[in-house]
Parts: sequence; C-alpha cells; structure tokens
Amino acid sequence: MAGATVPQKVKSNTEHSDEMEPLSIFAPDSTALTMVQHSPLWEFWYSADGKLELISDACTTICGYEPKHFYRNSRFMEAIIAEEHLPVWHSLWTSLRNNEPYVEAEFQLRLPDGKKRWMKFEATNVYSSAGTSLGIRAFCHDITKYKTIFQQLNHVTWYDSLTQLPNRSRCLEKINSAIARSTTSGKWDFSVVYLDIDRFKNINDSLGHAAGDAILHKLADRLRAHTYGHETVFRLGGDEFAIIVEDTTDNEAVHRFVENLSKHIKRTIVWNKKNIHITVSFGIMHGEPNVESAERFLQNAHVALNHGRSSDIDSISVYNSQIFSKALKLISMELDLHNAILNQEFFLVYQPVVNVADRSIIGCEALLRWKNGRGQIIPPDKFIPLAEETGLILHLGEWVLREACSTFASWIQQDPEFRTLKVNVNLSARQLSDPDLPDMVSRILQETDLDAHYLRLEVTETMLMDDPQHSVATLHKLKELGVSLCIDDFGTGYSSLMYLQQFPIDNLKIDRSFVNTIQRKTADYEIVKAVIALARALDLTVVAEGVEEEEQRIMLEVLNCHYAQGYLFSKPIPPAELEILVSNGTRLTPQLPYAG
Ligand code: C2E
Ligand code: CA
Ligand code: CA
Repeated sequence: MAGATVPQKVKSNTEHSDEMEPLSIFAPDSTALTMVQHSPLWEFWYSADGKLELISDACTTICGYEPKHFYRNSRFMEAIIAEEHLPVWHSLWTSLRNNEPYVEAEFQLRLPDGKKRWMKFEATNVYSSAGTSLGIRAFCHDITKYKTIFQQLNHVTWYDSLTQLPNRSRCLEKINSAIARSTTSGKWDFSVVYLDIDRFKNINDSLGHAAGDAILHKLADRLRAHTYGHETVFRLGGDEFAIIVEDTTDNEAVHRFVENLSKHIKRTIVWNKKNIHITVSFGIMHGEPNVESAERFLQNAHVALNHGRSSDIDSISVYNSQIFSKALKLISMELDLHNAILNQEFFLVYQPVVNVADRSIIGCEALLRWKNGRGQIIPPDKFIPLAEETGLILHLGEWVLREACSTFASWIQQDPEFRTLKVNVNLSARQLSDPDLPDMVSRILQETDLDAHYLRLEVTETMLMDDPQHSVATLHKLKELGVSLCIDDFGTGYSSLMYLQQFPIDNLKIDRSFVNTIQRKTADYEIVKAVIALARALDLTVVAEGVEEEEQRIMLEVLNCHYAQGYLFSKPIPPAELEILVSNGTRLTPQLPYAG
C-alpha cells in the first residue's frame, strides 16, 4: 500500500471517462462486476497498495455523489469527510496498512446539499488462499438514523427533559470523577452546592403545574446564565438542583459565588401576567476525604440546606458534623409530630385582647401548644416551621380552627358576655395558598355552628405579599363567608400601600418588636404612630401586640390605639381560665395573676 494515509489514485483512473470500466486486480468476471454494481450496498474495492479499483453505484443513492467523482480524485472521500472526523479516517488506513484484517470507523460525510450524514465504514484486508494480499474490500453504510436514536437515548439517560440540564446520574458521575481526581492529587478542590426552591409545593398547588414548570425553566436559565467554566449545573429532580464547583479550594470564594447566584435567582418571574416571587435555599458541602460516596456528598449538601432552611428560607448553609446530628434530631421530631397528631397531644391556649383605655376583654387569640410524650410543652415557633415544610400544617391548622370554633361556639351558648367578643385564629402560609381554605373554613363554621362574624383569621404581611394577587382573591373569598381578617406582625414585612387597600381586612396588629421599644426608641414610636394613622385612614382597627409595661399602654392610649395584647394584661391562658375572666367581666389590671 502507498505511504499516504489515503489510497492513492489509480493511474489509469485519471483519464477515466464516466462509462469506462474500472481496472481491477481482483479481475472479477463481468457477472461478478454486475452483481456488485447492482448491490444496494456502497462497496469499495481497493488494490493491495490502496488504489481505488471499484466503487459500486449505490454510492450515488447513499452519498449523492457519483462514482466518477471518486475515480477522478483519489482524495475525494477525504475531501467530503467532516473535518473533525478526518483523524478517524487516517487512523483507519494506518491500521489497514498494518495488515489488520478488519477495521471500522464512524464519521460524517458532507453531502452535495451541504447536509451531513453519519456513515459507518468497514474494511477488510483480503488474502488469497496462499496468503498473499489481494486488496481491500470495504463498505460504507448510512447510520444517521441509528446515531440520532442513540443520541436521543443518551440525552434521555443523562439529561433532564424539562430544563435540558444534565441530570442526577450525570451529577453523581461528575462528583465521582472529582473524588477520583482529588484522591490522586490530594487536593480537595471541589464543592457540591444543593439548591431547592422555597415553598415550591405552594406554588404548584396554588398556581398549577404549568406555573411550576415555567418556574423550573426560568430557574434553569438563570443558573445557566450565571455559572461559568468550572461550575456545572444539574437538575436532580423536582425543584432540586445542584452545582459542582471545581478547581478551587477557596471556600470563601464558593460562598461568594453562591451569594451572588442567589441574588440573580431572586428576581420576580412573570408568568401569565402574574408576578411570582421565588427564593432558593442552598446547602454546600466542600470536598474532603473520608466521605464514602458521591451520593453522600449530595446528601450532606442537602442536609446542610435543610438545616439552614429550618430557621430561615432563602438561606445558605455549609455542611459540618453538628448539622448532621441536628438533622437526625429534626427527623425524629418530624416523626414525633406525626404521632402527636394521632395521639392528640395538641391543645390551645387563649390570650385576651383588651381595650387599651379600659382594659376590658374584647376578644382572644387562640395559640397552639404541643405537650409531647415526655410531658414537655413545646412552643409553636419550634414546630410550626417543620409542620409547614412537611405539609402537616394543613391537617394541624384545620384542627386548630375546629377546636377554637367549637370552644367559642359553646362559650357563646353558655354566656352572653362572649357575644361581643371575637376569637382570632392564626393561619400559616401553606394554608393561605391552599385552594381548599375557604371551603374548609366554611365547613368548620357549619360543623361547629359558629356564626362567621365571631371568627377573625390572622395572616402575616409576609404571607400576603408572597403572592399578593392570589392573596387578594383568597381573602375576598374568606370575607364573603362573613369572617373578619387581620394582618398580623404588621411592620415586619413589606406591604405596598396599593395592596393594603385591596386586601379586604378589618384589623392590623402592630408587631411586638415596635411596641416593646416604643418608650425607648423614637423610631419605633414614630412607626407605631404612623401605623395607627394609616389604620385610621383605611378604616381599620389596630391591636398593639406584646405590651409588657404600663408606660407602653399609656403611650398607646395617648396615640389613640384601640386595642392591645400582651403580658401586661395576660399571658396566653387555658380556656377554662379565660371563660371565668370573661364571665366576670374582668378588666385586666396588673394586680391580677395573669400577667407575665
Ligand atoms: P403571633 O401570632 O405573633 O402570636 C403572638 C405571640 O406573642 C405568642 O407566642 C404570644 O404568647 C406572644 N406574646 C404575647 N404577648 C407577649 C408579650 O407581652 N411579650 C412577649 N415577649 N410575647 C408575647 P406563641 O404563642 O409562642 O406563638 C408564636 C407564634 O406561633 C405566633 O405568633 C404565631 O405566628 C404562631 N402560632 C401560634 N399558634 C398558631 C396556630 O395555631 N397556627 C399557626 N399557623 N401559627 C400559630
Ligand atoms: Ca397572631
Ligand atoms: Ca403577631
């Protein structure tokens, strides 16, 4: 065979006319030739020194070029192979020259219409029975169809179909290779970042799956747009994503990268003319030896995420061993919470709401307590976030409402003093976004036979502003039932005045963080004063929360604040005690034992 990596042109072929019979050292008889020419296969015969002797007519059907192009130019095949695949072609001929009996290669050919198609080229060195080389016989098949199917399959195996991001398997593969590299180099220069959209289930439940998908799509785009070179994004499933950051041992830099990313992700998403506000929580696990598997790296980053989120959404948390033991505790608490519902370990206490001026009781707020199996009373702040995250809150919230309504209904029946009061019940974020909420409230009012105007539902400003348009619609439905509505913790979130006017509310509760310092901090005094003025302008009543000192009460009275709640008057107390206070028309003076 010639020294060149491609077959040399057969001398006589230079002057080949279209009709000319090609020379063949195989010297096939005319029948054999006819058989080859009519074969559906694209066949090549080369002489032992690599000269093209014969090319079958199927050539034209398969690649669009006629045999004459190949006869005239011995490098024609090379000229139409996609440039990036030329090395494959060259190495195939090297192997043939080295007398390999069979070689194959896959490459793309550029067709006359400019399109590319995948070909599989198979060639065998042919020997006589005496062992002398007779030449090379080769076939070229169009394998585009199989290649496409293979690529699609490959995509399905490794990529997520919604976002087109590489998937969980790909992520584990990447972590595994990072582990292998670090084990060899001794340099643990990668980090695994786990991301999860806060309250994604709420969005899906309230706006539907199309909105959920749109958000995942948008998030994937934002992640792609803000990751570079050594950062690879994956979708692990659901609303969970991961980023592998490589080639850095600077943990601070990874943290800064995540902070920056978080800022970009937080921008509002517009879907169907609705503004959807998303936040994402992050967990980070930096590369380190002695972590047994890629799976464990991901798990630890996830544990860190959950740890951060248990105290705050929109958090960034880095894994360490204490987090792991805390996570175990949390899991056991979740189990306890499940059992607590089954074992009826919850009960309600009631905190009186009083008239600031004369300290008479005008209502009460139902507050949830949990007495666990070991007899400890657990405050709501410790378990409500968990109940919220796990969805147990829907069940629990319904229980609270039923209990408070039925207790209040029986008080009204027994004692006319209660007929001027209202009972306040807190709603959680999950409940507010639950499409069944208005029906559930209506059902319970009927079941417990309580007139709707005795019930006041409390929602926080933050919950309302999470999705103001949806909140407006839900509050209107609740309002139609005849219940009153109250914005709780007012001042801690960000209400826009525009929305405040649209919410059909009756009452504002000024957060206790302002009330507590009203006599010491001028700024807080001004805030309380402004909220009272705002409430008057909007025709709302105001409750100041967390009043602990007489001085605060006097200031509130001067500011014309209607109502108050706080340890100065009474701590949350068992229902039987409240019943006595109300029946006796008690005014809550500090001399009574209810103050905290
Ligand atoms: P919140 O709705 O702002 O309830 C008022 C909290 O302030 C109560 O805490 C109450 O005991 C406390 N408090 C009242 N007066 C004073 C005071 O003068 N000083 C101080 N330092 N604190 C005072 P609690 O009962 O621990 O409830 C905490 C939070 O848990 C509530 O805040 C509410 O957001 C939530 N929560 C309680 N019960 C329920 C419930 O049934 N459902 C839902 N979704 N959330 C609830
Ligand atoms: Ca409340
Ligand atoms: Ca409050």
